[in-house]
Amino acid sequence: MPRHSDDEERWGMMREKIIGLGEKSIRKSYYPELRQKIIELENANRELALEVIERQRGEEEIKRNYEIQTIINSLLKLSLQDISLDELFAITIDKILSLNWLAHQGKAFIFLVEEVPELLVFKAGAGLPGQLPAHCATVPFGSCLCGLAAATGEIQFGGHDDERHTLRYENMQPHGHYAVPILLDQRTIGLICIFLPAGHKRDAREEEFLASIAHTLAGIIQRQRMVLEKAKLEEELRQAAKMEAIGTLAGGIAHDFNNILTAIFGFTELARLDLLHPEKVDKNLNAIYRSTLRAKELVKQILTFSRRSEQQKKPLQLSLLIKECLKLLRCTIPATIEIKQDIRSSGTALADPTQIHQIIMNLCTNAYHAMRQNGGLLTLALEDVEMNVEDAGLAGIQPGPYIRLTVADTGTGMAKESLSKIFDPYFTTKEIGEGTGLGLALVHGIVQGHHGHITVASEPGKGTAFQVFLPRLPGTPAASATVLEDTGADRGHEHILMVDDEENIVRIAREILEDSGYQVSAHRSGAGALQEFRQQPDQYDLLITDMAMPGMNGVELARQVRERKPSMPVILCSGHSDMVNREQALAMGISAYVDKPYFMSEMLHTIRTVLNRKNGYE
Ligand code: ADP
Ligand code: MG
Repeated sequence: MPRHSDDEERWGMMREKIIGLGEKSIRKSYYPELRQKIIELENANRELALEVIERQRGEEEIKRNYEIQTIINSLLKLSLQDISLDELFAITIDKILSLNWLAHQGKAFIFLVEEVPELLVFKAGAGLPGQLPAHCATVPFGSCLCGLAAATGEIQFGGHDDERHTLRYENMQPHGHYAVPILLDQRTIGLICIFLPAGHKRDAREEEFLASIAHTLAGIIQRQRMVLEKAKLEEELRQAAKMEAIGTLAGGIAHDFNNILTAIFGFTELARLDLLHPEKVDKNLNAIYRSTLRAKELVKQILTFSRRSEQQKKPLQLSLLIKECLKLLRCTIPATIEIKQDIRSSGTALADPTQIHQIIMNLCTNAYHAMRQNGGLLTLALEDVEMNVEDAGLAGIQPGPYIRLTVADTGTGMAKESLSKIFDPYFTTKEIGEGTGLGLALVHGIVQGHHGHITVASEPGKGTAFQVFLPRLPGTPAASATVLEDTGADRGHEHILMVDDEENIVRIAREILEDSGYQVSAHRSGAGALQEFRQQPDQYDLLITDMAMPGMNGVELARQVRERKPSMPVILCSGHSDMVNREQALAMGISAYVDKPYFMSEMLHTIRTVLNRKNGYE
C-alpha cells in the first residue's frame, strides 16, 4: 500500500512539528489545556488517515463487484439470444481472462458432461498449449485435478508440483490451477479450469468469483436443456397423438372402405349381367364411379393424417375443413350419436390444415367417447366473433377478429378436479389402450401455435363444450379445390399430346378425351412423344405428361418441348407430390399440376381452363 506509507510518513513529520511547537509553547506558558488540545488533535488526525485508507479499499471492492456483475449480466443476456453453449463458453473464458485483478496465465478452458455420465468433455478454451485439447479431450470423474473437482463437487486448487495433477505433457510450463465444478442440484454438469502463475497462493475471493460464474453457467445450461427437451417432447406428443387418432379411425375407415368395395363388386356384377341393356349398364357404371369418388376422398383423409409434415400454415377456410372432418366422423361414429353442424363462418385463418384436422378429430373423438354409453348429440359450430381488449387480455391473446369453433356434446361431462388437468399430457380417465391422455395436450399446443385460445365448460351428467378461437384473416375466402362432376361443359377440339407410361391410363384418357371432342396423340415414353412432336410442333396445342416415367421424366420432357415451342401449355400429373410439388411445377412455367389418381372430369376441366387461358378467354 504505497499510499498508506506516504500518509504514515507525512503524518510522522506533522506530528514532530506539532509536538515540537506544542512543547515549546508548553514550556513557555505551562498551559495544560493546550497540551490536552494537542493530544486530541493527534488522535483525530490518526482516525482521519485510517478512514482514507478504508475508503480506498472499499472503492476497489465496489469496482471489482461491479465487474463481476457486468460479466454475469452479459452472459445471461447472451444466453437469451440464439447462441450455442460452445460459443457462450468461449465468450465466458474471454471475459474471465480479461480481468486484471484475477491471477491467471491467460489460459483457461471449460468442460461439459454430455451423454456419457461422469465424463468431462472439452468444449472451449483459450491460450492453451497445443497438446492440451487432445490431452484433456475427455477426463473421467476422479481423474486428475479436474476429475477430482468434478467428483467431489468442490473447487480444487493445485500448484505446479501437486501430485493430484496427473495429466502432464512435454515442455509443460510451471503453472497452477483452479478447477471449478459447474453444479446443478449438487451434480457436476461441467467444469471451469484456469491456469495460474506458478507459486500463486490460493485466494478465497478469486474462488468465490469463479464459483459465481460456474453458478451462472449452470443456470444457462439447464435452461437450454429444458428448451431442447420441451421441443423434443412436443414433437413426440404430436406423433403419439396422431397415431392415437389413426388408431381410433382405422377401424372406421376399413369398415367404410369395405362398404365401398362391396358396392363396386356388386355394381360390376350387375353391369356384366345387363350387358344387353345399355341404359342399365350406364346406371351401374355411374354407381361404380360414385363409389370410387368416395374411396378417393377416404384415401385423401388418411393421407392428411399420415403425412409427417412440419407445420405449414396457409390461409385456410375452416368451414371446408370441418365439412371434410364431418364426412370422416359420420363413418366412424355410431348412429346412436346424432351429429349437428351449425356453420355460420366462411372466414379464413392462417393455419396448418393437418393440425386443425387433428384439433377437430381429437375433440370429436373425446365427445364420442363421452356419449358412447347412452348416445347423445354432437354439435360442431363455427362463428365469426370479435374479441375485445378486455376478453383478449384475460385469454392472453390479441384483441381482434377470431373464428370460434365449438365442439359440444351431451355426454358424461367432467367434475372440477378433472377439468383442471385435462390439458396435461398423459392425463386420462380411460382404460389402457383406450386413451393415452395426449389428445387435449396436443390440441392445446396446436391452438397456442396458432396464436389462438381454447376454453372448456363442463357439467357432470350434462355434457361438455370446448371452444377454440383462431385469429381470422381479413378478406374473402379463397376457393377450394373440390371434386367436379362431369357437366359436359369441358369439351374441345384441340390436339393433345398425352404421355404416361401406364398403359391403362393412356387408354382411358385417350377414349375420354376423344369422346369430349379432342384429337389425341398418346405415348408411353417421353422420348417417343418428343420425337413425334419435333416433326410437327405446330400440330399440338397441349402436352399432358406424367411426372415419374422410366427414361425421360415429365419435367425434362416439358422442358424440351417448350424449348422448341415456348407457348406450349403443359399439364403435369404426379402421384408423388413430395418429388416435385405444385409450387415448384408452377414456378417452372408449367400451366397446371394435377394430383394422381385424378378423375377424368377433373382433368377435362383443367384442360379447358389451361387452353382457355392460352387462347386469352380468361
Ligand atoms: P384421452 O382421450 O386419451 O384420455 P385427452 O387428452 O383427449 O386424452 O383427454 C383427457 C381426459 O379428459 C379424458 O380422459 C377425459 O377424462 C376428459 N375429457 C376430454 N374430453 C371430454 C369430454 N368431451 N367429455 C368428458 N370428458 C372429457
Ligand atoms: Mg382424447
